[in-house]
Amino acid sequence: MTECEVCEWMEKKQNILFEGDKVVALLHPKPSALGHIVVLPKVHATILEQVPDYVMPELFSTANKLSLTVFETLGAQGTNLLIQNGIPAGQKHSHTMLHVIPRRQNDNLPLMWQPKQGDQEKLAEIASQLAENSKRIGMFEEEPKKPKEAKEEPAEEAEEYLKKALRRRP
Ligand SMILES: [Zn+2]
Repeated sequence: MTECEVCEWMEKKQNILFEGDKVVALLHPKPSALGHIVVLPKVHATILEQVPDYVMPELFSTANKLSLTVFETLGAQGTNLLIQNGIPAGQKHSHTMLHVIPRRQNDNLPLMWQPKQGDQEKLAEIASQLAENSKRIGMFEEEPKKPKEAKEEPAEEAEEYLKKALRRRP
């Protein structure tokens, strides 16, 4: 049914390493290095901007834990956590993915760049533009509540009880 190759990877369940509520992690079928993992939002999202805010914590925490796992399991000496957001950034699939790439000394993976000398005036100028347009950061999209079923009262009672119980905490 789906036309997304990456959604198909998830459906096929090949080389799945972890499945959470909102993300799936699997071995990249065309890896850059042995143990190259991708963490995928279950919801189809072409670019990062379309991934709901409430998926982000699980996306990044999963990548972080898998990064640790490749250190411990494959003896990686470093990892890159990478999102290629948009075609100019190297994105190859129309589904957002967070890559976890195991690194070794002198593995020659071309992910390095030469730092440039920053022009202070130019930096200050774009810093103020970016800061101005970043004011809404901190307003995060909440996960929609699951549709409630008819027999709601007991759940609400339980919620009330929980609230009271939490209020009681010091
Ligand atoms: Zn997809």
